[in-house]
Amino acid sequence: MDDWAPRWTAWERDNVGLQVGRADHPGRRVRVTLDVTDDVVDEAISRRADLIVSHHPLIFRPLSSVTGADPVSRLVLRLAERQIALFSAHTNLDAARDGVSFALARRLDLTDLRFLAPLRTTLAKIVVFVPAGHTERVRDAMAAAGAGVIGAYENCAFTSSGSGSFRPGPDAAPFTGTPGRLESAEEVRLEMICPRARVDHVVRALRDVHPYEEVAVDIYDVQNRDPNAGMGVIGTLARAESPSAFARRVKSRLDTRLLRMAGTGTRRVRRVAVCGGSGSDLIAEASRAGADVFVTADVRYHTWHHLPPGLTLIDAGHWETEQVIVPVIVQHLQAMARQQRASLSVFHTELITNPVRSL
Ligand SMILES: [Zn+2]
Repeated sequence: MDDWAPRWTAWERDNVGLQVGRADHPGRRVRVTLDVTDDVVDEAISRRADLIVSHHPLIFRPLSSVTGADPVSRLVLRLAERQIALFSAHTNLDAARDGVSFALARRLDLTDLRFLAPLRTTLAKIVVFVPAGHTERVRDAMAAAGAGVIGAYENCAFTSSGSGSFRPGPDAAPFTGTPGRLESAEEVRLEMICPRARVDHVVRALRDVHPYEEVAVDIYDVQNRDPNAGMGVIGTLARAESPSAFARRVKSRLDTRLLRMAGTGTRRVRRVAVCGGSGSDLIAEASRAGADVFVTADVRYHTWHHLPPGLTLIDAGHWETEQVIVPVIVQHLQAMARQQRASLSVFHTELITNPVRSL
């Protein structure tokens, strides 16, 4: 799950990963669900599951006690008593390639998918100055620690040669030069892109192989669009259809009776933007990207009043636009288990955890 939806792409205030259970305790029978409820825990117990994988975290705000006096800690206690672990992938799965919005787009038959708003806060640039002849070793160590990945390319680095100068102090044990004397050395400026969450790890790795006693490293925040993480997805329908025909498609594919829609869009629908769950923040982005329709959930009353011209907005429900990820998680874990020859059985919960009913 971490390879697919790395935790560093989660929102800062989110709480993802293992929520209940021991990290070294093997799981063999997995139930996948959008939400953790009493019914889901009952189901896990009756099906002898030892791991629940959920999209929505059970523990979101810090717990001050685990006594069962509140609904969250009661569920935590029930899981712990039955030795059922809980793992959650939330906004990191929203932001992942083939994550929630990709699943929603595919369910609506969209193709040619790309992120609507690639994340811009996930990457950093690491620059390190290396004496000539040591560049490869340092670069390889940085790459092995997770730096230098651009799309499908690994070990991406840039080097430029120059001259570095330094005066070793009396207590220094310099790699070259003499304490007290100003020295200059032929050095290479080596730069690599790196996920921000991996920066400390990469810096430790490069220090381990760098010959200098004091390593000069610069870490820059960069505003690059991350090609592997973003919010929302935009894609294309094979054939344009009327807004009402598209609305019927959404209803049938998401199996929902309730759909809210508005907007001045009357043009035929071809380009469609989607964001599973609460995606109202992306309305302007969807319009800028040329979407005819934007499908999301949790739209507030006043938002409907101020839609960009030409855009039709559809609110298809939070649960409905996100439950599409559950079978995708099941398939992903099954494929991974096959690949690693692990004996893992993975099942989709049979429960509808949506607390909202459409009458
Ligand atoms: Zn959600």
